[in-house]
Amino acid sequence: MDWDQETYLPPGGVEDRANQLATLGGFTHQMFTSERLAGLLESAERELDGAPQDSFEASLLRVTRRDHEQALRLPAALVEDLARAGAEARPDWLAAREQKDWSIFQPRLERNVELSQAVADCHGFEVSRYDALIERGEPGLSTRRVEELFEQLKQAVVPMLAAIQERSDRIQDGVLDRNYDPARQIQVSLAVIKELGYDFHRGRLDISQHPFSVAFGPGDVRITTRVKRNVRDSCLFSCIHESGHAMYDQGVPRDLDRTPLWGGASSGVHESQSRFWENLVGRSRPFWRHFFPLLRDAFPAQLADQDAESFYRANNRVRPSYIRVDADEVTYNLHVLLRFEIERDLVEGRLGAAEVPEAWNELLARYLGLPPPDLVSGPLQDIHWVSAPLGTFVGYTLGNLISAQLMDRARLDLGDVDALLEAGDFSPLLAWLRAAVHQHGRMFTPDELTLRATGAGIGTESWIRYARAKFGELYDLSW
Ligand code: ZN
Repeated sequence: MDWDQETYLPPGGVEDRANQLATLGGFTHQMFTSERLAGLLESAERELDGAPQDSFEASLLRVTRRDHEQALRLPAALVEDLARAGAEARPDWLAAREQKDWSIFQPRLERNVELSQAVADCHGFEVSRYDALIERGEPGLSTRRVEELFEQLKQAVVPMLAAIQERSDRIQDGVLDRNYDPARQIQVSLAVIKELGYDFHRGRLDISQHPFSVAFGPGDVRITTRVKRNVRDSCLFSCIHESGHAMYDQGVPRDLDRTPLWGGASSGVHESQSRFWENLVGRSRPFWRHFFPLLRDAFPAQLADQDAESFYRANNRVRPSYIRVDADEVTYNLHVLLRFEIERDLVEGRLGAAEVPEAWNELLARYLGLPPPDLVSGPLQDIHWVSAPLGTFVGYTLGNLISAQLMDRARLDLGDVDALLEAGDFSPLLAWLRAAVHQHGRMFTPDELTLRATGAGIGTESWIRYARAKFGELYDLSW
């Protein structure tokens, strides 16, 4: 029903669909928080009898217990308030964008902050309310830990960006703004993600305003994309990103199907899969050595003056910009940092919703060196703050960090990964991800999973080394 809502639902059906989803959501919450389920969990736990922590049985009970306790802590009235607040905020967010007027959206954000605080209070926390929100999305992580990771990134990225900007003319990317037929872009994208390993027998691609992937079961994992006439807002990269999410869900074993262990470990781990394919594979030189001929065949006139190398470079130009989802790899995490700091301060009561545009402009100048944007390119740019609870942003940066750690480890295990990419032999890499990440479903926390897959918990070292090597070479800089 969610998928249909974002793709083919007629506009008149929006209200009906909201009611249907609320009814089903209410039933699910009721059944999952029932006495009966609590009793079943208890008797199953008695039978567990020393099964090892990483066994299927122990993991099933541990994860179900965690979900159950989380659900129990939220009173049904709060669950309803959350759903209603999101639905009501959406039109005001659209109106505020239309009229470029923060005061239209501000009361909605105030309400969402209050609801987030209420969720945090129900959930419980040791140090800060924001901890509770992070822990909900990324089990085992804390605000403190995320702050440490961001601090390390900031130390590395801010000077890196300054050095790159002094050499901004080394890379030209005008080729991305030429006129590319949308239907042909879709054809190319389909061919590429099929070759990467997205299984169309168990998936499909449709068009929606905001690209997403959605999993109904191991046999049905769908993606969507958007397409414009240029390739700067790239249909291809958005398809690669979403197919990275989808290949994760397609790779979770059938054995876990229809249990609480089916699906991804967290939004951060999910993002590690999409960013792995989008950036570490899709924005790499060997990838373009392999795929550029396919693209040039599809667009011979637009790409007549290009080769694999120039196109690779064009797709990796670093330039501070206002919109997070269009940001290059170097500036992307700074966008997430900005959102994290604002959200954290809102939830912890240090910042009011009225002060958000000002705080936004100040952080944007400090981290990205940009003058103030209009509201649509600023705090109204995406739909994240339209619904509560807040606290979902960190997953994006965690995903980048984990993806680099996974690639480091894959290089150790598989040898010359670049040679595989250049030869178009993507299956060893996918098989490696299946074994390291996908097969575990939701069994482990993000840190546990990263430790198992790579030998270390979540850290910044791999990503910083990767970024320095890649962009140092592209911009002829050394760190
Ligand atoms: Zn994603």
